[in-house]
This record gives sequence, structure tokens and C-alpha cells, in this order.
Amino acid sequence: MLNFSATVNQTDLRLAIIECGRIAYERHLMTSNDGNISVRMENGQVLITPSGVSKGRLQANDMLVVDLDGRVVSSRPDRKPSSETPMHLEVYKAREDVRAVVHAHPIFATTLTVAGLEFPVDMLPEVLLTLGDVPITEYATPSSHEDAEVIRPFLKTHNAMLLRQHGSLTYGKNLDEALIHLERIEHVSEIFWRAKMLGEVKLVPPEAQAKLLAIRDAYFKR
Ligand SMILES: [Zn+2]
Repeated sequence: MLNFSATVNQTDLRLAIIECGRIAYERHLMTSNDGNISVRMENGQVLITPSGVSKGRLQANDMLVVDLDGRVVSSRPDRKPSSETPMHLEVYKAREDVRAVVHAHPIFATTLTVAGLEFPVDMLPEVLLTLGDVPITEYATPSSHEDAEVIRPFLKTHNAMLLRQHGSLTYGKNLDEALIHLERIEHVSEIFWRAKMLGEVKLVPPEAQAKLLAIRDAYFKR
């Protein structure tokens, strides 16, 4: 369901958001009522999670429809769009290929940014093969327009980034892709943290890195 096609209907997209929220919540990628999930519908409007609701317990009629300017097109009377809606819309405006955006607060990846560390892009082969560099944005006040501004420099060239002292932002052609990026970021960040606790963090040898990048260009290029 998360791996939806370009012609998916709105009912199925609502169900896909529910499933994505449940997975992210159960994996501790979104705690409390943190995080937000959106998808771009066939008509160009965006379906987004409401403000103040746990993403682990969403219902189909919780989600709101907004246009790319942030105007609410349809909603339950007791629901407001996510306060991070401007950040989601910024992604859709910059990237026509993107159909799904996930903002989460993953523990280990967020910890990296709190500790002032860079994301370890060259520690595990699968990162070089798939994600590539995961930039960390400048600090921005959550729920303000600042979030939309700090992500702008990276939108065209990356599908995943970390928001300093805040969380993650991942996106792709469907929710499956956005969630895979999120899970990988958190997995790598946790291994990095655990390896640091044990001592030295070994990197992929430089010559092997070049090979991985060549494979990525051949098979995984977005
Ligand atoms: Zn947030």
C-alpha cells in the first residue's frame, strides 16, 4: 500500500498515510504526536496529517487536503493542518517527481545533530549505494516558515536530510521510498552511535567507496 503508483486514488492514499504513521510510531521514529506525513494527489493537491494527533493512531478522516499555497481545501471542522505544512509544500514545489514527504523525530539521527556530528555517509556500503550524503540543515524554529527556508538549498540534490536539533525529512516517489530513507538514516545513526561507544568507527576504504558510487550511478541513480 505504501508503494503506490502515480494513479492511486485518495482513499488508498489516506490508508497509506495511516499505515506509514503506524510503522513510524511503532519503530519510535515518531514519538508522542510528533512528525507529519503528506502525499501529493493526482490533481496536484496535498493530503497531510493534522496537527496535534499521534501518527500511530490516525483515522482515514483525520487527514486534510491543502493546495500548494497552503490553503485548506477540505478538512474535518476539528482538524488543523500540520504546523510543518510549509516545509512539506516547499518539497513538492521544488521537486515535481516527489509524491510523498515524511518528517520524523528519529532518536539516534536527531541525537547526531544535537551532538554537532555529521551524518556518517561513508561508514556502511548501503548508504553510499542508496542515500548518499545526508546534509544537516541550519537550526530553524519548528512550526515556523524557517523550516521551509533551511531545507531549500538541499531539495534538488538530496532525498533525505536532517533538521538540526529537530529531526529528519525524507521524500520520494511514494511513501515506501520516503519511509525506507527514514529507516536507513536511523539505522545507520544507531550503528554509528554504538560503534563510537565501543571505540573506533571504521569507514569504507576510499577505493571501495569509488566502486560503490559507480554502482550507484549505474543502478540506483534517482
Ligand atoms: Zn518536527
